[in-house]
Amino acid sequence: MRIANLAGRLVVISADRAVDVQRASGGLFSSDPSAVYARWAEFRAWAAGADLGGGVPFDPRDLGAPSPAPRQLLAIGLNYREHASEAGFTTPEGMPPVFTKYATSITGPVTEVALPEGGHTDWEVELVAVVGHEAHRVSEAGAWSHIAGLTVGQDISERVIQMAGPAPQFSLGKSYPGFTPTGPWLVTPDEFDDPDDLELTCAVNGEEVQHDRTRHLIFSVPALVARLSQVLPLLPGDVIFTGTPAGVGLGRSPQRWLAPGDELVSSITGIGELRQRFTG
Ligand code: ZN
Repeated sequence: MRIANLAGRLVVISADRAVDVQRASGGLFSSDPSAVYARWAEFRAWAAGADLGGGVPFDPRDLGAPSPAPRQLLAIGLNYREHASEAGFTTPEGMPPVFTKYATSITGPVTEVALPEGGHTDWEVELVAVVGHEAHRVSEAGAWSHIAGLTVGQDISERVIQMAGPAPQFSLGKSYPGFTPTGPWLVTPDEFDDPDDLELTCAVNGEEVQHDRTRHLIFSVPALVARLSQVLPLLPGDVIFTGTPAGVGLGRSPQRWLAPGDELVSSITGIGELRQRFTG
């Protein structure tokens, strides 16, 4: 199943059309896309038996983030070996670096993003998992059952502020307005042949800059859920950015940054794509 946030309303995507959940359920479920995760099992059960015909066509530019107001957004650093190496770090063991992208930076999948003045703004395509059932001290074996679904994320990163100061400012440098696009929709894990092996790509102005598979994650989605949930409860609607593969502008020689007019397309096979246009 695919669910989306269409102009602020929860919809199910069925045959490329959007079915409004509040109307189709006769008001059983709220139109608020954030509210569904707290009732995830009940929602899945309803959707499995519901008549989801009669949807309407829609413009992807009207889509918002599948989880637009998570109580927690956890983002993972250095989770692919070649990316850790290009960023100049060793490979993490035990627990990867964890930071946040503040909620005001979250947007839908098709946007214009203003480049911070004097910055070095970079791209990071990532698989993003959204929590469906609270996870606290769960095992890796049981972790997938806590995930509502998967979506595409861009961890847009301004490297000057990220690297300034005595310690890295990961969270601040990755939280300018528009720096956290996700979407185009949330795909439930059962839709994939293998949710632990998805192909990600990222292109700048049509030139492919990142291309990898999530089976190369050092800490897989279930490994992250198990480790993070040993520390804190992961709550329904929480968003986990799982880390980016090699090919970011920071790791290139010469280094390369996004410029006004650039178009960034980030995609994951079996989910869809994000499209960002940058302005000065
Ligand atoms: Zn990242």
